[in-house]
Amino acid sequence: MDDLPEGTRLAVQCIRCGGWLVSAESVTARLGPVCARHSRADARRAATEIPLFDLPQEAY
Ligand SMILES: [Zn+2]
Repeated sequence: MDDLPEGTRLAVQCIRCGGWLVSAESVTARLGPVCARHSRADARRAATEIPLFDLPQEAY
């Protein structure tokens, strides 16, 4: 978890489990890595043609 520049202490709560997120990727998605995976699985199960969180890493 040393990938954030010093002085950047953004933190949001996971919309799924309420846990604190501090990594840039998780903050952007408002989801922790584990919850993001679960959400993707849920989305695929519900609507396989609409991957809600299937954003490419470069988009960040
Ligand atoms: Zn979570």
